[in-house]
Amino acid sequence: MSSDSPGGKRSFSNWLKPKKSRQTLRKRGAASLTSASSTTLASVKTGYRPSYEKEDVPPLPIAPLQAHREKYQGTNSRLDTQLGENRDYTNILHALSLQEQFDPDDVRTVQKDNRPPGEASIASLSPELWFSITDCLDPTTTVCLALSSKTLYRRLGHHPFTKIARPENFGYKLDFLILLDRCLPHHLLCFPCGKYHRRSQEGQEKLQPAQVLNPVFRCPNERNTLRPQPRHRIAHGRNIPFAFVQLATRAQRFSLRYGISAESLGRRWRSEEWAMSSRYYIADGRLLMRVTSQRFVSPALKISAKRLLLYSREDYWPFFSACAHWRDGDLMDVCKCALDHVPVPRNTAGLQGVEGRLKDAIRGRNNDARAIPSQCGRCQPMRRCPFCPTEYLVEIKITEDRRNPHSVDFRHAIVVTRWSDLGDGTSPFTSIEWAACNGETEEYDSFKSLGRRAISGIFESAFTHDTIPGRRIISMNPDNKRGGEKRNDWY
Ligand SMILES: [Zn+2]
Ligand SMILES: [Zn+2]
Ligand SMILES: [Zn+2]
Repeated sequence: MSSDSPGGKRSFSNWLKPKKSRQTLRKRGAASLTSASSTTLASVKTGYRPSYEKEDVPPLPIAPLQAHREKYQGTNSRLDTQLGENRDYTNILHALSLQEQFDPDDVRTVQKDNRPPGEASIASLSPELWFSITDCLDPTTTVCLALSSKTLYRRLGHHPFTKIARPENFGYKLDFLILLDRCLPHHLLCFPCGKYHRRSQEGQEKLQPAQVLNPVFRCPNERNTLRPQPRHRIAHGRNIPFAFVQLATRAQRFSLRYGISAESLGRRWRSEEWAMSSRYYIADGRLLMRVTSQRFVSPALKISAKRLLLYSREDYWPFFSACAHWRDGDLMDVCKCALDHVPVPRNTAGLQGVEGRLKDAIRGRNNDARAIPSQCGRCQPMRRCPFCPTEYLVEIKITEDRRNPHSVDFRHAIVVTRWSDLGDGTSPFTSIEWAACNGETEEYDSFKSLGRRAISGIFESAFTHDTIPGRRIISMNPDNKRGGEKRNDWY
């Protein structure tokens, strides 16, 4: 066969070609698909690889020490091997220049004012005239005026600042300092000192029991009993300092960096036989508090047993949470009335039981010891303190007693729920709700201020999507009695 015969060459190459049927069955690599549409003799020769070469070669095993070094090389590359310090110079320079972390929230929005500058007209008036203007203003407004522009600051001099620093103008000084609240996220206004202190546990502030020393800032008056930090008594051994009301309301008003969330203030604790739980919520910039106090009760208690159950022997305050006006009014009588509604189990042994059941059947009465108790028209309605924004609900409920883990036991319990409005957290002197809850003002009238919208309704509607059953709210103190402990009908 001659090599230049075209027919002979075609037939030879055709003979080396794989069959059509084999082409479809064979799985070809991606390289052969892109390089040539049909397999030729040359491609068969160069594309051939022994089967062992196609297998992935496993990496060589490395010594454990080398593996350990490789693992930590990346993370430790910026650390000094001798001192363990960070060698990142950018971080070092930033730490030197910025004492506090930068946050875009710190830059306050500056509103554009297109009016022509008024410095010339301010400067045209004599200092005497400015002094007679400031004589008509209160010290807070005078300081604000002096700080409003350089010209006014030069005209008024140091006079407004010395005036506001006088002890008799302490209230005006606090009013001025409250205006700076937005500019100082890392500080908190201390009311006994009238100064802003640096927050010592920034963002980590936790509400602690009363016996735990828990300062949120370093204050020279920390242990001064003559100038105590304002606080509100929640229950025995528990109180809320005003600083926590400030932190919660500031966080809501500005941003979370200014304080802590209201949810983080909630606590559960036990006091003697009472189980307590508190929860907080901010509505319209004011901090609302709910404290639920619960205790298992026995039926048919005598009056002395009721007093033992309700009052603490240490300070003769109720175990449950109450406002400063609990002695004036019907709150304790309502609790005693509710305790009378705990069903009394009847002795069901022998003939007595048969007789009792017969009597019940005749009277149409169910004398089941585990029956759901019904309360009367006196203890069932919700009560509102007329002198402070506080509402109470006293209930007798069937509750699971979990003290014995081996048996499921349901018992009757008295549940006293208190809702209070602790104010907007600006100042303990100007926030009338705070002052009223602590019994420091007599000007507050809760029925006039709250109107038809109950604190309990606002609070519960924030947590439940169901409709809240309407309850009648009546005054806790219908006769507007005052005097507290001086009267002898409170015990
Ligand atoms: Zn202080
Ligand atoms: Zn009753
Ligand atoms: Zn009250």
